[in-house]
Amino acid sequence: MKSPLSELELIHWQPRAVARPIAMPVASALTPANDDWISLKQRIAACTACALHAGRTQTVFGVGNPCADIMFIGEAPGFHEDKQGEPFVGRAGQLLTAMLKSLGLNRDEVYIANILKCRPPENRDPHANEVSTCTPFLQEQISLIKPRLLVAVGRISAHYLLQTKASLESLRQKQFTFGGTNTPLIATYHPAYLLRNPIDKKKAYADLLFIRSTLQALLNQ
Ligand code: URA
Repeated sequence: MKSPLSELELIHWQPRAVARPIAMPVASALTPANDDWISLKQRIAACTACALHAGRTQTVFGVGNPCADIMFIGEAPGFHEDKQGEPFVGRAGQLLTAMLKSLGLNRDEVYIANILKCRPPENRDPHANEVSTCTPFLQEQISLIKPRLLVAVGRISAHYLLQTKASLESLRQKQFTFGGTNTPLIATYHPAYLLRNPIDKKKAYADLLFIRSTLQALLNQ
């Protein structure tokens, strides 16, 4: 079986650097109110508020533990996500799953969602009007899940969640707050970027360690 580090293709890293798994609580004390969660899912599935609805196979709500302490937020569904109705299932998604593994986490222990719930044509960047139409859904999702830590996956997610245009390089390895819910937030590389720029996987691993230690500190508060 491949180790989490070799799945990240950080094969030249020594095992002593392997992160100890985060001790995740089995289940948080609070679960999202079922009716609110179901209503949100139904409203997203039926949404026609922006032009993207016309080209979608289906909406992509999110996946994982709705009581998760940590929530990863990407940009928008791509081809595979649109077909399967689940975020981060393509090649980039497989790398995200490996990154989670290196933290000792499975996909069903965290929550994974996107800023946009519908796939933009040809995977183009989200338009500002699409983001402003869709982010109230994300904000509701965050309010119901109540994660202790948000992770903005990639530059575009970080820009929208932090309302900044700063480079990802300047945003990573720092703790911010998502204004919408006052939730602590850390930004890191998008796995699709890492597939194109494997040289930065080492820095991504440093980000994962920072995410792990920040989450542990938040859980100990
Ligand atoms: N990229 C994203 O940002 N989200 C996905 O769900 C898939 C690829």
